[in-house]
Amino acid sequence: MSSHGSILREKIEFIKGVGLNKAKILKSELGVQTVEDLLFIFPFRYADRSEFQLIKDVQDGDTVQLRGEIISITKKKMKRSARLVGSFKDPSGFIELNWFQGAQWLVDKLQPNQTYILNGKVKVYRGVKSISHPELESEQQAIETDPFLPVYSSTEKLNQKGLGIRSRRRIIKNILNRLKPADLIENLPSHFVEKLEICSRYDSLRYIHFPASPGALNLANNRLKFEELFFLQLNMLYNKVQRDKKLKGLIFNTIGTIFNRFYNEKLSFELTNAQKRVIKEIRYDLGRGVQMNRLLQGDVGSGKTIVALMTMLIAIDNNYQTTLLAPTQILAQQHFQSISEMVKGLGVQVAFLSGSVKGKVRKELLSFLKEGHIDILVGTHAILEDNVEFKNLGIAVTDEQHRFGVVQRSKLWVKNDQIPPHILVMTATPIPRTLAMTTYGDLDASVIDELPPGRKQIKTVHRNDSHRSFVVKFMKEEIAKGRQIYVVYPLIDESEKLDLQNLQTGYEELLNYFPRSDYQITVVHGRMKPQDKDIEMQRFVNGTAQIMVATTVIEVGVNVPNASVMIIENAERFGLSQLHQLRGRVGRGADQSFCILITKTQLSKYAKARIDTMCRTNDGFQIAEEDMSLRGPGDITGTQQSGVLELNIASLTEDGRILETARHLAVALLQKDPDLSLLKHKSTLSYLVKMRNKNQKWGRIS
Ligand code: ADP
Ligand code: MG
Repeated sequence: MSSHGSILREKIEFIKGVGLNKAKILKSELGVQTVEDLLFIFPFRYADRSEFQLIKDVQDGDTVQLRGEIISITKKKMKRSARLVGSFKDPSGFIELNWFQGAQWLVDKLQPNQTYILNGKVKVYRGVKSISHPELESEQQAIETDPFLPVYSSTEKLNQKGLGIRSRRRIIKNILNRLKPADLIENLPSHFVEKLEICSRYDSLRYIHFPASPGALNLANNRLKFEELFFLQLNMLYNKVQRDKKLKGLIFNTIGTIFNRFYNEKLSFELTNAQKRVIKEIRYDLGRGVQMNRLLQGDVGSGKTIVALMTMLIAIDNNYQTTLLAPTQILAQQHFQSISEMVKGLGVQVAFLSGSVKGKVRKELLSFLKEGHIDILVGTHAILEDNVEFKNLGIAVTDEQHRFGVVQRSKLWVKNDQIPPHILVMTATPIPRTLAMTTYGDLDASVIDELPPGRKQIKTVHRNDSHRSFVVKFMKEEIAKGRQIYVVYPLIDESEKLDLQNLQTGYEELLNYFPRSDYQITVVHGRMKPQDKDIEMQRFVNGTAQIMVATTVIEVGVNVPNASVMIIENAERFGLSQLHQLRGRVGRGADQSFCILITKTQLSKYAKARIDTMCRTNDGFQIAEEDMSLRGPGDITGTQQSGVLELNIASLTEDGRILETARHLAVALLQKDPDLSLLKHKSTLSYLVKMRNKNQKWGRIS
């Protein structure tokens, strides 16, 4: 049979039990047009045919499955019609069965003294329990044919219009009865099917709707999850192959004096092995003639900045300009200062640009940049503006990538109109591996999975309002040792007055314990003027102030090694990754650091789980995994717009292993056959093309 004749492409209205009206509803409610569309809506659970309720326990409105016998059936004459009334018995009692009109033929088939499985909805009226139009099957037949029944998610409208659960089952049955193995062309390369011992598409579709056993369901699940994740990965990697082919990349094959002098004279510590490995990966990228698009992940404090700087120095050695973008003014300035310091004496020109650089200074800077006199431009979003032109941008680095969008990344591409610059994006928000593979799957990824030596674990404790005097005492002891302290208040929305008030009150309260005569407290929040913010920030950085009261503006990147205590107020209001980021502000020096999470006494289950996780571990990746399982992947920062999370059957939280395998095999496949042009990969390619046409987001190159 040719694939044109496949039942899959038939319009759903031609299927027995559907028709024009129901087809309309299926379209409007579920977006279903063809048989294939409906077949790929999988059950969200199964009713086990060996699990029963007892009649004595059933209540009005319950949908139940009972096991018992039919004791009697009698005809009752009504005014205009006849009604059939039966009595059904199980070990716990009796329930009335009702059939209206014309059900005689159905009832005639029922036999006494035989065990039936009954499905239906219970009604209780004046103390009498009954079920109308029950579904009855002899036990033997039921268990042999369908030990598990599919349960599909439904809507009010579907239920009303005769497309409820039983009718959906019947329609799927009708489709499956006509489905032939040839209708489902194998879309995976044949060696996968053998190697992975997965079942055929045909079997998996039958079993996913009507599994013959738990084992069969498992097989079907595995196959369909693998298939989904494999094509998702294949699509991203295929995009990448095509992109690499189209776009040339600048070639930096000189490791010159600047890089070497920095490495030999300026670098005051030994790089960690992870840092060395990542620099090697980047160097390889830069010599390949293909544009680099690399994601650098590394927990807070793992030393990403130095890697970024050394990457930029390679470009400078090859006579190209570079830029480093940070999401906040504070962070950008800090990068500017530390980078200027690190390259002092190497003849590298570093400049700073943000919205606050205005007028003549800005004008001069922009013309310097265009003439090529600036080697490293550090700054904020302001760099993305159209009038910021480079002479020859070779590398663009963005720090804390999750704060930027995809659009911003692409704006950097056009900053060099000849050949796009190499792109390195860094993030300290650890992303669970599965998410990274799906949202940044088309980027090459490097991970710094090792902290510089000598870092002490940050001790994290949970306290509530009633412990406040202990906390104050502890703060005083630490300050006496010469340490500095952050006190952070949630400011979820920078415009929320109430939150700001919180911070003000907190600050005034602290003044009672830490009088101006003996202590200095600085305040930083997002609604201050940039200049004021800088002054206040500076008082903490240079050690004048012992305490900094702040909002989450300090969340990313701020680096004050002498600050060793992080106190987070209303910690229950923060998400896990935010708590982890904040905690990462301490533990940067040699001293033992502490994080104190202060909450109200009564906590929700989830808030409690978050706080417990923080107290238990310092490992950002573990926290990220936990975060995902608490919140679900859709809520993880920065991934909402990606669209790749609309998975049909696989789950990023549960199917990590399948995803790993799928990615691995997709990589291997494209290595052998980058364009999928071999004959034996024809069906894989055509399925990929089909999915790309169906899903607009799949074709987009990020
Ligand atoms: P992050 O990855 O969070 O951006 P940073 O780049 O700010 O981390 O580095 C944190 C601190 O660790 C900085 O003070 C940096 O100088 C220091 N550092 C980085 N690499 C090393 C290393 N290999 N050995 C010792 N200290 C290092
Ligand atoms: Mg950083």
